[in-house]
Amino acid sequence: MTLELDTPVQYVKGIGPPRAKTLEAKGIRTVEDLLTYAPFRYEDRSNVKRISELAPGETATVLAVVESARLSSFQRRRLGLFEATFTDESGRTLAGKWFHSDYLANVIEPGREVALYGKVEFDRYSGTLAMIHPEFEILDPEDPDVSLHTGRIVPIYQAIGKITTRVFRRIIHGVLERLAPIEEPLPGHTLRRLKLPKRDRAIRELHFPPPGTDLRLLNAFRSPAQYRLIFEEFFWLECGLSLKRTKARLRKGISFQLTGRVREKIKQMLPFKPTRAQKRVLGEIARDMASENPMNRMLQGDVGSGKTLVAAEAAIIAIENGYQVAVLAPTEILAAQHYFSFKNLFDKLGYVTGLLVGSQSQKEKKQIKKLLAEGHIQVIAGTHALLEEDVAFHNLGLVIIDEQHRFGVMQRLRMIEKGVAPDVLVMTATPIPRTLALTIYGDLDVSVIDEMPPGRKPVKTFHVTEDQIERVYSFLRQEIDKGRQAYVVYPVIEESETQALKAAEKMHEHLSKVVFPDVKVGLLHGKLPAEEKEAVMRAFKEGRIKILVSTTVVEVGVDVPNATVMVIEQAERFGMAQLHQLRGRVGRGAEQSYCILVTGRLNDAARERIRTIVESTDGFHIAEMDLRLRGPGEFFGTRQSGLPAFRIGNLIRDQDVLEVARSEATAFVENPPSPEELKRAVAYIRDHWQRRYGLVQVG
Ligand code: ADP
Ligand code: MG
Repeated sequence: MTLELDTPVQYVKGIGPPRAKTLEAKGIRTVEDLLTYAPFRYEDRSNVKRISELAPGETATVLAVVESARLSSFQRRRLGLFEATFTDESGRTLAGKWFHSDYLANVIEPGREVALYGKVEFDRYSGTLAMIHPEFEILDPEDPDVSLHTGRIVPIYQAIGKITTRVFRRIIHGVLERLAPIEEPLPGHTLRRLKLPKRDRAIRELHFPPPGTDLRLLNAFRSPAQYRLIFEEFFWLECGLSLKRTKARLRKGISFQLTGRVREKIKQMLPFKPTRAQKRVLGEIARDMASENPMNRMLQGDVGSGKTLVAAEAAIIAIENGYQVAVLAPTEILAAQHYFSFKNLFDKLGYVTGLLVGSQSQKEKKQIKKLLAEGHIQVIAGTHALLEEDVAFHNLGLVIIDEQHRFGVMQRLRMIEKGVAPDVLVMTATPIPRTLALTIYGDLDVSVIDEMPPGRKPVKTFHVTEDQIERVYSFLRQEIDKGRQAYVVYPVIEESETQALKAAEKMHEHLSKVVFPDVKVGLLHGKLPAEEKEAVMRAFKEGRIKILVSTTVVEVGVDVPNATVMVIEQAERFGMAQLHQLRGRVGRGAEQSYCILVTGRLNDAARERIRTIVESTDGFHIAEMDLRLRGPGEFFGTRQSGLPAFRIGNLIRDQDVLEVARSEATAFVENPPSPEELKRAVAYIRDHWQRRYGLVQVG
């Protein structure tokens, strides 16, 4: 039977229902899914060495027979050291050693043929050559496909359940033999210009590279076949985005009037003179809002750069034109913070500011929703609660989304649909490379606040271990004697709020009774009722509380320029973005500020994070390091971020390919070689990629 790309995998030879189920769990349902399950590494077994030719220090593949095998305990400790010796036709012996590998006794048995791949070392105990923990594969001489696994460049797949690399190799080889020729979806002239191999060839060579392919290219994912497939994935995504962009340009939005009254209100609201950068980005935003197309703009600015003020100015434009403003935040604490900030700025203008979050009582929520629907609330801050079906606006004109990468494309749309083509402003303190931003956030224009409010001194950051905490206290004492204030923060790890709470409570007790009996120490955490939270924040703001012990409430929290010390306990448990955000709570006045990271013993990853924060105050640099250390999936919170799951492409590793794909795609959509070609591409995206990429309404 010939196989097509859309044939379900259970019809493939070698894949019965159990294996189909295993594959399904990893999202592999069709032949196409299987064929885009790319090897993560390749081994050159075309150049197999004899044992007699091996030299210490080189990395090589040998094909050999197991001569002896034994499990030994080592210095009376049970390390499960498994040792075997191997010979080949050269008659020489090679040793192999695996620690903690008792199970190998049932796998590597005398008489079996194996392929070994690893670094050759000289073992001075036995006086022979040895490989420590080599990769290995049992070869079955009865296997008619033995030539698949040796004598060529061999693909190595990540095993899925019991489906080993060897099984994958056999199954995929079988599929390729029965596969109908794959049609070429990419536009001909793109293929020719970039000299890309056809899809059919690329898929085949992805799995079984032709003899002579450069192994280094393969393992860097840059063989012509790999490049073509990565490019293709990115190309369709970028085409989809470009089509959406073209469509968006045709949509009609609200044309806000920038009247004298608007200017007057803004002047009245402003607590200080905006920086040049703030003025510039407001200009960009105001221009978008005045235009009759809906605004879709991202506002990037490091922590403390003054995004809130700009957002407030934009809100005034909407409100003075008779519209409502929604401020969507990913957490309740952030939502509450926005609520307080806007309330502070807007009370004197006579606007009504509201808050809607999941933890409010039904009664409270009902009341807020009513006021909102009737148009009595001008600005509503809130969490996902704002997206609920029964939340209606009287006249929603501007949507402000904070920390957008935590919201998916669909969620953003749901918010937007509560108005009639409202303007959208996305705020983020996590700048990421531009092409990546444009890809992940869809089509957004970008404004950057690249200047801090005047008179700021960079925060000095130190790392101390828990046993040095007394020194931290005496430092705190000095600063408080100078009239300054301080934060002491405990990490809240999801699901363990209670634990952080306990730690914060204990520390509050210790600090207020033992260390600083003469100083007012406050306590703030997420479980406090809203009014109490507000009271504590106010007392701190007004300087009545000197030291504020808290869980991460202050992450984007209180704005107190007189606070000069941020002590972060168990700093190793915070992510870098969070540490940077927390540090941004100090250094808001003219005085020198300090951030002290207190940790226990660090593992390598934590040490790297802490070091980055100590050495840099540049949010852009920190975000980039974060992205690199954690990878895009975790960084953006994969699923819910709406970040597409690429099969072969990797947004970090393949940024160069992404750039090429983006410019090719844009050129193709804006200037297609023929209307038919564009139509064909739209249909292809709709049928193959739309759902995966969350590209709604492409064609
Ligand atoms: P972000 O949201 O970008 O992290 P905020 O909007 O919270 O930053 O502003 C940080 C601090 O700087 C706040 O205390 C704010 O009142 C203050 N601020 C903002 N703009 C200015 C300005 N133009 N001049 C002086 N202080 C400013
Ligand atoms: Mg507009």
